[in-house]
Amino acid sequence: MRIAMIGTGYVGLVSGACFSEFGVHVTCVDKDAGKIERLKNGEIPIYEPGLDDLVARNVAAGRLSFTMDLKEAMQGVDAVFIAVGTPSRRGDGHADLSYVYGAAEEIAQHLDHYTVVVTKSTVPVGTGREVEAIIRRVRPEAEFDVASNPEFLREGSAIGDFMRPDRVVIGATSDRAGEVMRRLYRPLYLIETPIVVTSLETAELTKYAANTFLAAKITFINEIADLCEKVGANVHDVARGIGLDGRIGKKFLHPGPGYGGSCFPKDTLALVRTAQQVGSPLRIIETVVDINDKRKKQMAERIIAACGGSVDGKTVAVLGVAFKPNTDDMRDSPSLDIVPALQAAGAHVRAFDPAAMHEAEKLLPGVEWAKDAYGTLEGADCVAILTEWNEFRALDLRRVKSMLKRPVMIDLRNIYNPEDMAKAGFTYTSIGRPSPA
Ligand code: NAD
Repeated sequence: MRIAMIGTGYVGLVSGACFSEFGVHVTCVDKDAGKIERLKNGEIPIYEPGLDDLVARNVAAGRLSFTMDLKEAMQGVDAVFIAVGTPSRRGDGHADLSYVYGAAEEIAQHLDHYTVVVTKSTVPVGTGREVEAIIRRVRPEAEFDVASNPEFLREGSAIGDFMRPDRVVIGATSDRAGEVMRRLYRPLYLIETPIVVTSLETAELTKYAANTFLAAKITFINEIADLCEKVGANVHDVARGIGLDGRIGKKFLHPGPGYGGSCFPKDTLALVRTAQQVGSPLRIIETVVDINDKRKKQMAERIIAACGGSVDGKTVAVLGVAFKPNTDDMRDSPSLDIVPALQAAGAHVRAFDPAAMHEAEKLLPGVEWAKDAYGTLEGADCVAILTEWNEFRALDLRRVKSMLKRPVMIDLRNIYNPEDMAKAGFTYTSIGRPSPA
């Protein structure tokens, strides 16, 4: 089979490479000349574990290629996927669909045989129908169907998530389109992946329902963590105690500084707007959005409190700025709220992130960037862990203590144990756990 993938970002590049691993001939298309140039030279423009090998192997096998020319990419394809960005629209929080609709117009111009036009981007209900209408308007005679195939991969484990998903959701408008989609995902039948075939609208909504549910789960445990602090309980024990109940489940019950990243903040907001628009408001999610926004800001106050109530003229060492480990993605990362708030309170911030500094430099002016974790520490008044990269989990605590001006650690990801930290002589603040007596 043969497909074109429009957009070579976190989703398009991973999905394209994974489909080629399934044996499909894939041409990835992007408007960003720099990205395509780098990909043609064998460079991977994003940080995603395992992606370099996967891309290299499939390029070498002749199944994966890159171009800026959509016409060429669409020759003889069974399906063309739209995997472009759908960021929040400035001002109102609705999903900005201009890239999706732009791609639909371009696809329309090059349709010359029956093709399934698939939205892989996260798009509000009704977008697939609008894509169909746009193509019909430009090319009334064209032979095509639209389908929705939302993507559930997570950055940092994207390849595994794509190759061994919990499920695949396909919203198809005809049996013919459904059949093309099933054939594309055939390798997943071998590992008995559930394939949920629905209407276009249901598939579109399923993606938002999944992300907003997960955002609510994170927000729930964050609020329970705050309550734990007040009443002397331990949030990890509470999480285990409830998570072992199969109806609740163990995952996504880890407290932290608030969710961030390229999906949850914009998708929660977009679904809230859709629901308001159709007169069926989602009050739970409205509250989740509000709590999470405030929480990210409160985290700077937590750091300031741990530094004795003021960071004016002090140096704060920051470990991790990406929104989670194993990615260089900075979109809506909690660090984008926390670091500027510390700077506004008069702190000098010295930071390190294993992968995201090239992106973060543009977004966090005034930060002094270090070469490694220890490089942030010399003479700092405290160290704050913002992202739980593995390399921050086993720091040499004696060395950390000897480098800091004061042995103060604020661990917003709970990667250290309060007892161990007390023994090591640190004043240690984490989330939702009692301090050792
Ligand atoms: P991204 O910003 O990393 O990549 C989008 C790419 O599309 C860019 O390289 C851009 O240049 C390109 N593009 C835009 N318009 C184009 C056009 N007309 N022709 C060719 N290329 C074009 O975005 P992403 O993170 O990969 O997300 C893509 C979609 O997938 C979004 O809707 C997002 O919500 C959804 N999604 C993302 C994730 C994730 O973890 N990042 C997970 C699941 C779903």
